[in-house]
Amino acid sequence: MKVLYRLREAGYAAYLVGGCVRDMLLGREPKDFDVSTDAHPEQVKELFRNCRLIGRRFHLAHVHFGREIIEVATFRALASGEDDGEDRLVENGRIIRDNVYGTIEEDAWRRDFTVNALYYNIDDFSVVDYVGGVEDLRAGVLRLIGDPETRYREDPVRMLRAVRFAVKLGFRLHPHTEAPLRALAPLLAGISPARLYEEVLKLFLAGSAEQTVEMLRHYDLFQHLFPGAERSMSAAREGIAPAMILRAAANTDARIAQDKPVTPAFLYAAFLWTPMRERSLALQEQGQPELPALQQAAREVMQEQSQHAILPRRYALPMREIWQMQPRLQRIGGKKALRLLEHPRFRAAYDFLLLRCEAGEDLGESCEWWTRMQETDETGRQALCEQTGKRADGEGRRKRRRRGGRRRGGAAAGGQTGDQP
Ligand code: ATP
Ligand code: MG
Repeated sequence: MKVLYRLREAGYAAYLVGGCVRDMLLGREPKDFDVSTDAHPEQVKELFRNCRLIGRRFHLAHVHFGREIIEVATFRALASGEDDGEDRLVENGRIIRDNVYGTIEEDAWRRDFTVNALYYNIDDFSVVDYVGGVEDLRAGVLRLIGDPETRYREDPVRMLRAVRFAVKLGFRLHPHTEAPLRALAPLLAGISPARLYEEVLKLFLAGSAEQTVEMLRHYDLFQHLFPGAERSMSAAREGIAPAMILRAAANTDARIAQDKPVTPAFLYAAFLWTPMRERSLALQEQGQPELPALQQAAREVMQEQSQHAILPRRYALPMREIWQMQPRLQRIGGKKALRLLEHPRFRAAYDFLLLRCEAGEDLGESCEWWTRMQETDETGRQALCEQTGKRADGEGRRKRRRRGGRRRGGAAAGGQTGDQP
């Protein structure tokens, strides 16, 4: 309100726009507030001390109130053809630069969906609608403004946004908005991995990740974000890979519903687990020991992923730690178990072990054992660790049988090394 009224007092037009108007009309709490104005960014900056101009492609003003940021954007036009000049650059139908200032009506037409192009006017408390957004909002329809194919080609990320808003709002896609999705999905290959990652965060950390995975797969979009995950899912319709991915998504949703923290590291660890594991097993068959095989497989899988929805380094490290702790958690007992409990990534790695169990992997007693370890006291832990360290999973059991039921030694004799492949 402060931003709106100060702009108006200075003689400019100022409206709330986009997601916040849409969400308020639906009775939802807006995530953030965007303002649209005819003042140019420099003029906005003159009015607010707490204002920064940002953006290389778009000149935007950010007005700061403590931790809150109100984004103030100048009306822009979707300029056509000849008068594009220097300010708007289109390559193969994609918008590269978009800096032509325009009227409020032009600003409405360049937005993505009709329900995202509504303006709240403080002069008379009305909602300004040039594109039929109010009607679509009432009907629960997500409709791209203009010719869908042209609009998707301009910015293929709009395909991901279509899925995101359909899930978030519980809207159905208008048939014309839906129709080109599968055919145009490959255009996502032209989007930078960093921008795809930003979209992945919005898609999967907003509380409806499970439904989002299903819908992205339905429109062949998922493979352009996580190609390895898609291959592993379609190879085994009922198997561990789809179960891992959908359960990880459901767990993330449940945690968000309970206000618990979530991290992309865990989600990526689950999405890429099967591709990594299959590669790791292949390397072990060629004679590599388990840990180096896992590390090389992780590098290869992340190398492919970095061409798509890349995971930033600060999350890639914890993700690899979750993976690397798995073989250690698949052994139970032994002296090293106590130290493992203290590992900063223990909790995430343990949650991941449970996820693998739930998804149908044969991990023997290990899940149960580590659960008991955490529930008991110091003495109980010591007692649990008195057992010889051993592989608890199917692999360990197979090995023991092959070795002719080798007898277990005492706690001191075995440690963690007894059954290492
Ligand atoms: P959310 O509540 O998830 O933030 P939002 O509608 O505010 O939803 P933003 O990504 O914050 O979405 O974008 C703000 C507004 O900017 C949108 O409502 C839309 O009008 C416009 N917009 C954003 N991205 C695009 C795009 N790729 N193409 C066209 N218009 C866009
Ligand atoms: Mg927003």
